[in-house]
Amino acid sequence: MSFKLFTSDILFFQRVLRAEGLYLGKLDGDWGPKTEKAVNQFLEKSDQIKHQFGMFDVRTEACIATLATLAQQQARICIRHMLDRGLIARIISGTRTYEEQNILYRKGRFSNPGPRVTNARGGESNHNFGVAWDIGLFTATGGYLADGIQYTQAGQAGKSAQTEWGGEWTKFVDKPHYQLRLPLPVSELRKRFEEGSLHYQDLLRR
Ligand SMILES: [Zn+2]
Repeated sequence: MSFKLFTSDILFFQRVLRAEGLYLGKLDGDWGPKTEKAVNQFLEKSDQIKHQFGMFDVRTEACIATLATLAQQQARICIRHMLDRGLIARIISGTRTYEEQNILYRKGRFSNPGPRVTNARGGESNHNFGVAWDIGLFTATGGYLADGIQYTQAGQAGKSAQTEWGGEWTKFVDKPHYQLRLPLPVSELRKRFEEGSLHYQDLLRR
């Protein structure tokens, strides 16, 4: 999703800003001075991370802009490690609002054209909370690689103490997927996100 879409769902964005520790106002979906101030702080923080950890292609940048700052940092490190191994890696998906997640969920269901791309409805995916991103791998001529050994090589390069790779999951293997290593299930993440008690800093492994 783009930053513009992100801001179109103000309540959603306020929840992200709250979890960043930047917004202490009401979670009411109204764009007021407190939200404005928090957004500017968020953008400043994002800029600092970009300068510290390096900039990438346009699509990757658009996706990273939708992540929590903690995830922005990890996503930049993750992509850098893949590029260092000679893989042409980009981030092709970042945060999705609940509505965007529901649109994805409807693909391949309810007589919509397929294939199915997710089993998660809005509020059921780690992508709904600013902590997850998907990568795509490309050939030297720009062709998209849908699958292949390269995704395993990318996983070995991209995973770290702070970044979990979906290729290592046992129930549902998701090779393009990466996220912060989370100490809590998605249901608890959702609960805290919605009530405004989620703090991204608390998600860090000590
Ligand atoms: Zn994913």
